[in-house]
Amino acid sequence: MDVDTTIIGAGVVGLAIAAELASRGVSTVVLERHARFGQEASSHNSEVLHAGLYYPAGSLKARLCVEGARILRRLGAEGRVPVQLIGKLVAGDRHQREILEALHARASANGVEGLRLLARRDIERLEPNLASTHALLSPGTGILDSHALMRYYLARAASGGGDVAYRTELVGVEPIRGGYRLDTRGPDGSLFRLESARVVNAAGVAAHRVAALAGIDIDAAGYRIHPCKGDYFSTRPACWNLVSRLVYPAPSPGSAGLGIHVTLDMAGRMRLGPDATYVDDREPFALMADPSKRARFAKAVRRYLPGIVEDDLAPEFAGIRPKLQGPGETFRDFVIAEETARGLPGWFNLVGIESPGLTASPAIAREVARLMAGPA
Ligand SMILES: Cc1cc2nc3c(=O)[nH]c(=O)nc-3n(C[C@H](O)[C@H](O)[C@H](O)COP(=O)(O)OP(=O)(O)OC[C@H]3O[C@@H](n4cnc5c(N)ncnc54)[C@H](O)[C@@H]3O)c2cc1C
Repeated sequence: MDVDTTIIGAGVVGLAIAAELASRGVSTVVLERHARFGQEASSHNSEVLHAGLYYPAGSLKARLCVEGARILRRLGAEGRVPVQLIGKLVAGDRHQREILEALHARASANGVEGLRLLARRDIERLEPNLASTHALLSPGTGILDSHALMRYYLARAASGGGDVAYRTELVGVEPIRGGYRLDTRGPDGSLFRLESARVVNAAGVAAHRVAALAGIDIDAAGYRIHPCKGDYFSTRPACWNLVSRLVYPAPSPGSAGLGIHVTLDMAGRMRLGPDATYVDDREPFALMADPSKRARFAKAVRRYLPGIVEDDLAPEFAGIRPKLQGPGETFRDFVIAEETARGLPGWFNLVGIESPGLTASPAIAREVARLMAGPA
């Protein structure tokens, strides 16, 4: 074998796994089709360190979000990765009080600490520009620098001898004795073949295609991804101080996203988004926001932050969620699976790693390492 473990995809998840395996003495090569790391979902998101409020108790999303958030807060406190625990309010009106109470109960069951249901007086004290009568405060939610996190993972992987092959796309897979023969295509179209004892598919929105290359029937396995675009609008600097925390609307049941929310980045800039629109599963995806949505975004946010007007908004970027849940379908969890049962020993699929994948990344990496180590 040329390599012990090959990881497909240099997004935050693939890089977290490379770092985790390096710390356990496993040598890795990451194959990435772009010229740089983190060009897809990992650089087109809200950069929110989620506390773990939304996901059903016992799900991988809940468990790995809470564990990942704990690790990232520690990395922030140690000065290894820029993290700001600015907190978050989930804002609602009197009709949404029960939704907020249910969210509080669910989050507490997930082990999220420090949550508080707030009435109008407390909200006015914390965020005087918010027009909400009820809110859930999550002080353990924050923001982080996703590029710095990926650089941190890369450095840890490199210190353990890990390597990244950029502009190298996986195009073919053949199971062989003791591993896999991987066909890759380089920037000039030339093919290169390598043999790897184990393969981790962390290919984001293309993870179902990579699983199919390995011979998996993705529909029978439930691995088909339904890409879902989220657009962002930036706001004028005059708006940036309207709030000092992240502000999300109360969740609406059955929605594909968390609702258009107010995010702040590490430089204090405010942006709004993302919305959720399922798109055709044909790459390349449009990674710019649709300017025609400006009025809709302003209307959605003005419900709880009336100080924003349409003229304050400018279209910015968009991100593509690798959703397993198709339009109108109910909750789907992350898939993190070793595929011996499908006749693919040593093949690991990570499919549907949408939000909170950035937050959960260090915990996802530990989960993969645990699966690799086998039953304790
Ligand atoms: C709009 C939006 C907002 C979000 N907000 C948050 C948030 O605030 N907080 C949070 O925790 N999470 C958030 N997320 C989720 C988070 O961004 C993702 O879960 C995370 O970035 C997934 O990382 P990844 O490495 O799995 O995927 P990606 O970053 O997409 O990386 C996959 C990589 O695989 C490569 N690849 C694919 N196929 C091949 C191939 N055949 N050969 C070689 N390389 C290949 C791609 O080029 C890509 O670089 C958000 C996501 C979106 C879309």
